[in-house]
Amino acid sequence: MIRPQMSSRERVLAALDRRPTDRPAFGSPTSVIVAELMDLAAAEFPEAHLQAPLMARLAATAHTELRHDLLMPYFSVQHEAAALGCRIDWGRRDLMPDSKDHPCQTIDDIRIPSDFLDHPACRVVCDAIRLLRRQFPDLAIFGKAFGPWTLGYHLFSTQEFLIMTMLDPPQVVAILDKLKEVTVAFANAQFAAGADAVTLADHATGDLCSPEAYRDFLIPVHAELVRRLAGPVVLHICGNTASRLDYICQTGVAAFHVDTKVPCATARKLVGDRLALAGGINNPQTLCFGKPDDVRRDLQAALDAHFEIVGPECAVPLNAPLSQLRALTEMFFEMV
Ligand SMILES: [Zn+2]
Repeated sequence: MIRPQMSSRERVLAALDRRPTDRPAFGSPTSVIVAELMDLAAAEFPEAHLQAPLMARLAATAHTELRHDLLMPYFSVQHEAAALGCRIDWGRRDLMPDSKDHPCQTIDDIRIPSDFLDHPACRVVCDAIRLLRRQFPDLAIFGKAFGPWTLGYHLFSTQEFLIMTMLDPPQVVAILDKLKEVTVAFANAQFAAGADAVTLADHATGDLCSPEAYRDFLIPVHAELVRRLAGPVVLHICGNTASRLDYICQTGVAAFHVDTKVPCATARKLVGDRLALAGGINNPQTLCFGKPDDVRRDLQAALDAHFEIVGPECAVPLNAPLSQLRALTEMFFEMV
């Protein structure tokens, strides 16, 4: 291992800027929390979604146990949905939160409360970021905000929203226009609380959204979000995104957190040096059921493709063994 010359925070910020770093950054712009980390932190789901000190303590294990360069305290996908009126089941230590209803049928049903940011589900994320910022000045602290496409799934249900994209495109454009204000307000509140970067998660995945739909509905929205957000944006979209990586490059995001359904070398070839890449390590096979050799193979592919941030491809499943996350850490520091 080379001797570190940069703090984790400097390294991650340089990586997002595609400036030279002493080594690739290590960590994930989405959650890396597994049930075994909850035991070590004495902070469990569901309380750790709802109480800032527990949320911060649990997020910190990504560094204290796994030596990641960045911390992500927003573990699930439901905080904005809660503030917009969805009924949320906050889950258990082995189950992520889920929305129990989808309150909207038309754009007129969308209610964005004027005190949206004061809703406990939004406040807890900002408070946790503030705590982490104070406690870990040398680590990169990430926030997360969902884009209007994902918020559309929450409010209308995935199926109804996707049907609307085909039957009533003008209404979809109007909905995205309205909901993007939620993304801007929540992301910028997280920057104000001390986040170094914000993950913009917007699930315009290959099997749910065609490349043309991404081009027509989302390039302008994501580009506007990049312009209006107060710091670097890391876009996260699950699944196979190869067909829209070129479009994603046109949005101006600093980095894309890519699923391993796009092989690392392919992702790099498609984006070139137009944005930084994060991810590389497969969750369902490598982290949940793989052997150490699988970890080594994934790491090698990410390093060979010059990923700026190396780590799990998406939120790590809660039942993934901590031993495998520790093996990833050990091998990463052996190999860089
Ligand atoms: Zn994902």
